[in-house]
Formats: sequence, C-alpha cells, structure tokens
Amino acid sequence: MAILKEQASFADRLLGWFDVWGRRDLPWQKGITPYRVWVSEIMLQQTQVATVIPYFEHFMQRFPSVAELAGASEDEVLNLWTGLGYYSRARNLHKTARRIVHDFAGEFPRDTALLETLPGIGRSTAGAIASIAMGIRAPILDGNVKRVLARHHCVDGWPGKTATAKKLWFLADLHTPEIRVADYTQAIMDLGATLCTRSRPDCDRCPMQTSCEAYALNSPTSFPGKKPKKVLPVKSALFVIARNAENALWLEKRPPSGIWGGLWSFPELQSEDQIAEWCQRTLNADVDCIELAPPLRHTFSHFHLDIQPAIITVCQSSQRQHATQVNDAPQAGWMSKTAITQKGLPAPVVRLMNVLALV
Ligand code: SF4
Repeated sequence: MAILKEQASFADRLLGWFDVWGRRDLPWQKGITPYRVWVSEIMLQQTQVATVIPYFEHFMQRFPSVAELAGASEDEVLNLWTGLGYYSRARNLHKTARRIVHDFAGEFPRDTALLETLPGIGRSTAGAIASIAMGIRAPILDGNVKRVLARHHCVDGWPGKTATAKKLWFLADLHTPEIRVADYTQAIMDLGATLCTRSRPDCDRCPMQTSCEAYALNSPTSFPGKKPKKVLPVKSALFVIARNAENALWLEKRPPSGIWGGLWSFPELQSEDQIAEWCQRTLNADVDCIELAPPLRHTFSHFHLDIQPAIITVCQSSQRQHATQVNDAPQAGWMSKTAITQKGLPAPVVRLMNVLALV
C-alpha cells in the first residue's frame, strides 16, 4: 500500500510539474512516431540534445520513414552520422530498419520483448519507443532517469554495476504509471535534463524535493556513484595521407566491425618505415617526400590513440580508381573533395582534413 501511494505521489508530482515546465519543442516531440522516437533515442545515447538536433533534422529530411532508411546504403547512413561518434549506433540503426521492413512489414512491434531483439535496442530504448510512441506502460532508464532515481532514493554505487542497475530498474518500474505514460517518460527525462542536472541540481525548483533522500542529506551530487577511474592506455598509429596530382586523397573503407567499422579513413601503418613499401604495393608508385604533420590525439572510451599524420604526394592520376573491390563495392580509392563529403568519416579524419586544409 505504501509503495502504491509512493508511486502515485511520485508520478503525480512529476506530471504536474511537466504540465507547466516540460519541454515540448524538441524536433522528435513533433509528429511522434515509433520511428522518430527510436532515431532520437539512439542519437541521444552519449550525445547532448543541442548536438543531436541538427543531425536529427537532417536525418529525417533524408530518411523520413523506416522504409527509406532500410533502402539506403550503409555508406550513406554513416555519412549522415559523421561527427556524432559511436558509429555502431548508425550501423545498428540501418540493420534494424531492414529487419523492421523485412520481418515486421515495416511496423515497429508493439511489444518491448520483441523490440529488444532488434540490433541496438536495449531495454531502455524499447521502453521509450513503447511508452512515448505507443502509450504502452514500460519503464525507461537512460542517464537522466538514473540520476533522478539514484538521488531521490539515495541508491549507492555506479549504475554500470549490475546490482545498482537492478535497483534502479526496480524503481523505474515502480514509479511508471499506467496512465499518461508518454508524458511521464518525457517528464522524468526532462527533470533530469533541466533541474536534476549532473553538477548543479536546482533542488529549490524541483517538485520531488519533499521526498528526495539525497536532498534531505544535503548531498545530491554524491549520487549516482561515479564510474571507477582507470588510466587509459595509449596506442599509436601512423596515418598515410596520400595526395595525387589532381588533389584527390587515397581513402580506405575500414572492416565492418571494430573501431570506425565501415567508415572511410586514411590507411593506417605502424611506422614511417612502412610507407615506401605500402606506396609501391598499393599505388604502384614511388614516394618522393614524406612530410610529418603535427600529431593528434583521439580518445576512445577505452584508450587514447596518438595519430601521426604523414603526408605524401604521389605522381599518379586518379584514373586508377580502386585498389581492391569486395562484392563490386570499392574498398579503397582516390577520392575528390565531392566524393569524400558523401562518405562516412571518423571524427579525427575530418579534423585532420580541416587542420591540414586537405579538402
Ligand atoms: S530535489 Fe534535487 S536532487 Fe532531488 S530529484 Fe530534485 S533536483 Fe534532484
């Protein structure tokens, strides 16, 4: 009984606050469909709202429906994702669009268990699609919701730990109401994004203040627990930036899985000594001069990559288009500026092109 009362009180206060202060102008809140909610949820993983908005709008212009996304090439999807990072999200988006078209007749299943079988859709994303776009009672637990619940109930521990996640999922489920579930889902995300923020929670304006345990302890920012810090290892790589007489650049498509899977990048070697041999083997050309540009560090979640760019000029026409082909799709080749801008590129490749004024 106490639990039911708590649930009603939590959801009611949150919904009352949302009716006055909730966000309603985000692009994915207009013309809500499972497809739009899904794309926005995937883009918002590990990415700020302000960054996502232009990507979302551009994506929707190009792929207004799941069928159009399914019909696109992976290259085009990755190209629209360039700069957002975590490219497995884009590859999974594309795979899931194809599964929805082929296995579900183009309609998102109205069942969170089935949604969770699709690539890239976890429990929280399935909950968001079901609750926001279908009105089905299903909890979510994204970063904002974890923070609100961990503070409101003083849940110790880092949410990446199974035991902590289990407690938070229990609370997320406990508080999710039967009615107005779409508004509730949006409301708890909004509270985390606008008031119960990571470093400066605005408790004085918060509708949950009277029952918030972290507020009572005067310690909101102690929750949720921090991820244990570890020193990231440093790896290094040499990028060969080969340019021909027509100012085209040589790019290679990376293998489908692994770092920057499916994206177009500069060839990667271990050291400068390998450049001449690579140039002979791949381009059938000699190298006159190698210019080493200032190195650049790119940090992944699990390591730093120190990139040494080596610029070489090759006296070879772009007539020799492709070094290798797999299933008729070119896997490497000389590319003009126009061709490059239509490809999916890792962020450090874009940075190098800008810094070195390559295109
Ligand atoms: S009272 Fe403060 S810590 Fe508690 S939920 Fe509200 S903003 Fe977060």
